[in-house]
Amino acid sequence: MSDDLLGAALVRLDEAASHLNIDADVIEKLKYARETTKARLMIRMDDGSRKSFLAWRCRYDDTRGPTKGGIRYHPDASVDEVETLAFWMTFKCAVMNLPYGGGKGAVQVDARKLSKAELERLSRAYMQAFARIIGPDRDIPAPDVYTNSMIMGWMADEYAQIVGHAVPAVITGKPIALGGSLGRGDATARGGYYLLRRLAGELGLGEKLRIAVQGFGNAGQHIARLLADDGHRIVAVSDSSGAVHRADGLDVARIVSVKAEGGSVSTLAGQDGVEAITADELVAIDCDVFVPAALENMIHAGNAGSMKAKVVLELANGPLTAEADTILNSRGAIVLPDILANAGGVTVSYFEWVQNRQGYYWTLPEIHDRLRATMEAEGEAIWRLSRHKDISMRTAAYVHALARLGEAIEAHGTQSFFVS
Ligand code: NAD
Repeated sequence: MSDDLLGAALVRLDEAASHLNIDADVIEKLKYARETTKARLMIRMDDGSRKSFLAWRCRYDDTRGPTKGGIRYHPDASVDEVETLAFWMTFKCAVMNLPYGGGKGAVQVDARKLSKAELERLSRAYMQAFARIIGPDRDIPAPDVYTNSMIMGWMADEYAQIVGHAVPAVITGKPIALGGSLGRGDATARGGYYLLRRLAGELGLGEKLRIAVQGFGNAGQHIARLLADDGHRIVAVSDSSGAVHRADGLDVARIVSVKAEGGSVSTLAGQDGVEAITADELVAIDCDVFVPAALENMIHAGNAGSMKAKVVLELANGPLTAEADTILNSRGAIVLPDILANAGGVTVSYFEWVQNRQGYYWTLPEIHDRLRATMEAEGEAIWRLSRHKDISMRTAAYVHALARLGEAIEAHGTQSFFVS
């Protein structure tokens, strides 16, 4: 992570503002997080000792509705990262026209080193520390890197104990048994898949595509499966332990089962024409669409120039550095930006919150239809804006979101600008 991730993210805000006639007060408001709360979570370890972990919850901007965003467990988590991710969530929710602002949370911890019981105590401690800030009309968390539906279930249960009754809409990404939504599991990848399918003609993509996927976790596995099911070839994939390539296409179902058994994608190297490649060779692989689905800043000045793909579908958050973005734009590649391409996850989270509040649950086809309609409508609008103004899809997505945010900020009136 760069030293000033938020500073780098704010460059996008200034760039978007230059394409809109927007009040300077709006930009001033969006340059700073509204509130970031820090806590030290003290938990009892299995051996009887006590250990403490730093944690944050940021509510970046709530002009368009309660703040929404995941909780990340990562040893490198920092306040800069949390605020930047919350800034991105503010724009992502506005891109999709969801009635939410942006938030994010994190705990500085290597979750893989905790037992299940320790993880539960940590997750409950998080909710105890931040319950004053969180709430179904105030701030609604969800899973992120190294957190999952089981952790959301513990947190929802802890919140229910604190307030004295069940409040399923306080958190999304819950297990189905606790009010989770059908279709949340593959929502991020599915949203990106609907977007790519809708814009394929405009992007000049052919019928049968060659795809490379960087990162083979939730987002990466599902996008590989959805595209392979449509007859496209997944020619290369990677995870944190290695990368593999097969020009005629990899057997996605086989790689998914290897990963489910705890293996790495590179376990398949040497079998059925599958060859092991390096992480940089994956970026340079001959393909039509490159899908970053791992972590931030993985495509940078050092490897972007070698990329051959015509289209980049950003399922990860912030996978391209600003330099990589410039390199790809200058060579005519089209980047479908994270705040649009991976917004399927938060969109189905929104559907979960709506269902919880109604107490009425939708079928899987209803969820898929609503997700497809939203991705297509916002994707088309951003595509038209990018052509009309001759700007990148990323800048167009920020302009599209900023117009909505600006309208909402101005509608609130100046009094609310400076409320702390
Ligand atoms: P995950 O933890 O399930 O998967 C991450 C994958 O990245 C793993 O396969 C891991 O091995 C791989 N990885 C880590 N370091 C790598 C490296 N150096 N090279 C190659 N692969 C590497 O996480 P996820 O939920 O799939 O999220 C992936 C990205 O998508 C993150 O940026 C996340 O913020 C973003 N995202 C996810 C969702 C969601 O709903 N899951 C929603 C929006 C955005």
